[in-house]
Amino acid sequence: MSKYISKKYSGLTPYTPGEQPKERKYIKLNTNESPYPPSVRATEAAARAALGLELYSDPEAKLLNEKIAEVCAVEPECVLATNGSDEILNFAFMAFCDSERGAIFPDVTYGFYPVFAELNGVPYETVALREDFSIDVDAFCNVGKTVFIANPNAPTGIALGLDEIERIVASNQESVVVIDEAYVDFGGESAIPLTKKYKNLLVTQTFSKSRSMAGARLGFGVACPELISDLNMIKYSTNPYNVNSMTMAAGLGALSDEDYTRSNCRKVIESREFAADELKALGFEMTDSAANFLFVRHPKIDGGELYSRLREKGILVRHFSADRIAQYNRITVGSREQMEALVCALREILNALEA
Ligand code: PMP
Repeated sequence: MSKYISKKYSGLTPYTPGEQPKERKYIKLNTNESPYPPSVRATEAAARAALGLELYSDPEAKLLNEKIAEVCAVEPECVLATNGSDEILNFAFMAFCDSERGAIFPDVTYGFYPVFAELNGVPYETVALREDFSIDVDAFCNVGKTVFIANPNAPTGIALGLDEIERIVASNQESVVVIDEAYVDFGGESAIPLTKKYKNLLVTQTFSKSRSMAGARLGFGVACPELISDLNMIKYSTNPYNVNSMTMAAGLGALSDEDYTRSNCRKVIESREFAADELKALGFEMTDSAANFLFVRHPKIDGGELYSRLREKGILVRHFSADRIAQYNRITVGSREQMEALVCALREILNALEA
């Protein structure tokens, strides 16, 4: 750190993204990407848009917002497209929290929430998940803070029902509730319809997972026009051209190919169920995942050790060192072939323990 760093940031611990290794070809199950390529409609549209890169992208992202609105069955003024959903989550911390109105989220959840809170000088409280890693809904009711909940949660994959989300939103009408639906397409129930009923609900989604566009950086939020207008104030005060024209075009292309998205999600869900059954047969314990990853531990092998053994065998998964989850690994659900290779590697690792 240089001596010039602002005092505001000198204590900041940044988010650690999952590895994107270059030195070796891994079966990459560590960052919840899709095993399938983006829709051809997305890539062709992006290539066409590349021919116009001398111009700035549309700051209003008008066509894209309209298309997202159509797919989500809301009005275009209820939508804001952003540079990945990380950006709109940061905007939400900036717009709806301050030193007096802090944030609240589970102790085990997306690791970026505490980073965004610290970045923006927002005090935050964490609520412990129950022993089985489920969210204690009552602990998020009437809290007088800005609530951030990933649904399904990460890295557990456990989803709350819409009735439980509604209970949290309805009980906190003096503050904003942000429901981060990065993984909703793999088995969760979206809260987007509730944005018509509640003025304090912001739902965020991403093109990174179910639409195979992690590298394009595209996310969006849906909320009542007033909340979207607040978020736009932040956007126009930071980066009006936050979504580049190739990504905008790719997003439009992907949304015109929803059958492809749905079919990929179905395949991932089938692979998840296959892998879950196989891993349980090997003695793994896991949460009930509605997402494109499994959160697993084995009573006979330490979580960090399992991570290293898999890595030696060319399979990359995600291990978090936080105490409560250090015995677990989060394994992205890939293709059926990738899951077969995973099961095979795990069997070898476990057999070697007994030898
Ligand atoms: N929310 C959750 C729960 C996530 O796991 C991720 C992916 N790391 C994101 C949001 C952000 O995804 P992106 O910025 O790629 O849209």
